[in-house]
Amino acid sequence: MERGESSTPPSNSSVSNDNVWAKLVPSDSRYSDIELTSNETLVCSEISISSSGKSEWCRITRNMDLVSATFHNRRGNKVLVDEIVVRGDDTAVIRCGSEIIPGFSGDGEGLLRYRFKVMPAQESDKKQLNIVLDAEHAKCSICLNVWHDVVTVAPCLHNFCNGCFSEWLRRSQEKRADVLCPQCRSVVQFVGRNHFLHGIEEDLLQADDSLRRSAEEIAVLDSYASIRSPLVMSTSRRKRSRSVPDNENREVACRQCATEFAGYKCNPSTVHLQCHGCGGMMPSRTNNVPQQCLGCDRAFCGAYWHAQGVARGDAYPICSPETFQPIAERITTRMPFWVHEKNRHEQDITESCIQRMGSSLQDVISEWVTKMENQELDRTFMQLNHAELITARTHTCNDCYGKIVSFLLYWFRITMPMRFLSPEASQREDCWYGYACRTQHHNEEHARKRNHVCRPTRGTHR
Ligand SMILES: [Zn+2]
Ligand SMILES: [Zn+2]
Ligand SMILES: [Zn+2]
Ligand SMILES: [Zn+2]
Ligand SMILES: [Zn+2]
Ligand SMILES: [Zn+2]
Repeated sequence: MERGESSTPPSNSSVSNDNVWAKLVPSDSRYSDIELTSNETLVCSEISISSSGKSEWCRITRNMDLVSATFHNRRGNKVLVDEIVVRGDDTAVIRCGSEIIPGFSGDGEGLLRYRFKVMPAQESDKKQLNIVLDAEHAKCSICLNVWHDVVTVAPCLHNFCNGCFSEWLRRSQEKRADVLCPQCRSVVQFVGRNHFLHGIEEDLLQADDSLRRSAEEIAVLDSYASIRSPLVMSTSRRKRSRSVPDNENREVACRQCATEFAGYKCNPSTVHLQCHGCGGMMPSRTNNVPQQCLGCDRAFCGAYWHAQGVARGDAYPICSPETFQPIAERITTRMPFWVHEKNRHEQDITESCIQRMGSSLQDVISEWVTKMENQELDRTFMQLNHAELITARTHTCNDCYGKIVSFLLYWFRITMPMRFLSPEASQREDCWYGYACRTQHHNEEHARKRNHVCRPTRGTHR
């Protein structure tokens, strides 16, 4: 074992060491930072200003992921790590931003705290992760440049620029022909954006500026790009192998493949989008037909089928008709799972408050939807894309509806008169980290004893 002596006397603290991979930064500036240089460091520190003796208080071992560490309490005293008590000889995982309070005995106020800080990765660490990549293997066979907004087609797994492939797709559809891979000519059954390769595409351009295209070229390419959600292609009957089971069913992907609705019927080369909510298919339409959830930008069939006047899926999976309703018309009888950051205790408290008021969950939600509609609420904390565009008439997927209800019930709780809270609930102190607290998700006692329906008062890293 390598031992590091890390209680740096103030005289040394100005010497910065290149090998420092993490630090313990004290809340009190009279103490110096404790620098961690070896992968396993025994930290000896004076706990109070007055004591001159040093005593070993913890061992910090760097974890394999290089960004977290294991904190091992070497003293009999309790240490508070991220609001969790770590007793003598116990361990806890710490990450950048973790708070460590040694000598913890009571509420933790007024004690010296340390913030664990991981240094930005150094050259030596980066080298271990370097992979050799030939830019030739990251080029689009249509435009012969390094991919831009790369998409991958299946089953052959060739990659192209989104714009290049979108244009190819549009032409295939015009000819009502099967979509063939531009590189190997196999029939394409699926295309989607490849986020992993997108990262590589960016790294390559960063490494070699000469591979970059002009802003004008990129703008043209982006104007062609039409692939947002993953697309599933239907393939024509004659190309199908008779030995593949189920192929009769796969010819017809959605209700509009079989029947015309709202003046539209799919044809054999129609590309289908898969709904993230139910897994069902809908034709990918280019004109202004709603197909995505406004809250998460994912493909959502409820918005589409509602607009097409289709209420039942018959043999095809579609989202539950309840989700077809705009926000103002949805009926909510059960507390959505997302409410109060999924903290069951807070959900129960909100339910009992609503009961004490003689109201119902649905009535409270309706009242707050109206307030949202009247722009009475600050939407900064609404955890949705396009929060400012959401109105009572918007269609959203179930997850996003749950998040909207969660946002509304947060405002209900923080503006509600205290007398509707039970005595036990009203006596709880606010958790420092408020709704953003992570501990409430894994520490039952903490979740119950502190109020988490409040704004964080510290710890912006959470
Ligand atoms: Zn291209
Ligand atoms: Zn191919
Ligand atoms: Zn269809
Ligand atoms: Zn959504
Ligand atoms: Zn659906
Ligand atoms: Zn908390």
